[in-house]
Amino acid sequence: METVEDVTRMRLVGGNLALDFINTRTGPAAGPPDDDLLTGYPALIAWGVHAGALTRAEAARLRRLSRDDPGRADTTFARALSTRDDLDEVFRSLAAGGSPTAPALARLRDHEADALAHARLQPGNPFAWTWREDHTLARPLRPVVHAAVQLLTTAALDRIKGCEGCSFIFNDESKNRSRRWCSMDDCGTTEKIRRYVAARRTRARQ
Ligand SMILES: [Zn+2]
Repeated sequence: METVEDVTRMRLVGGNLALDFINTRTGPAAGPPDDDLLTGYPALIAWGVHAGALTRAEAARLRRLSRDDPGRADTTFARALSTRDDLDEVFRSLAAGGSPTAPALARLRDHEADALAHARLQPGNPFAWTWREDHTLARPLRPVVHAAVQLLTTAALDRIKGCEGCSFIFNDESKNRSRRWCSMDDCGTTEKIRRYVAARRTRARQ
């Protein structure tokens, strides 16, 4: 069983908040996921702080709000998981070289409309959307959904890839678009060891 602490140790290697949100569900490169770091509303808040989507003060306020209204916190958490399904569908099909379905894109549009309805435009250079004054339980989701739409509308979509060793999705920001692993320390190392062992076996046979 995952604990709330586990989500604060997760590797943030997606290069985008929405991709890191998708990566809270883990598993092999192909096939269904086999683990989920988001175990409930408290884990969602902890992830939000870990990923930089929430300040500690916001997290404390949301924790209080969720304790006051556990029913609504559960509903909000269920919505967060279904939003993650929608994001997963959109970005996993792009990573596989396909196109997201129209219903998945329509749902993402609805999530974004809801997020922006709670946002404020903060002056700066450039101006930015902020959710600092949004004191509703869905607050952790807003910047995640917005990051997804920003990635879709501004990124080179062929840079969105799936790790060859696990289910992680990332935005390949390397110069020559050669990134293949969620992280060199993890799946990259596993693959290097696998190749080394295979090469040694070949040499032993010669
Ligand atoms: Zn990986």
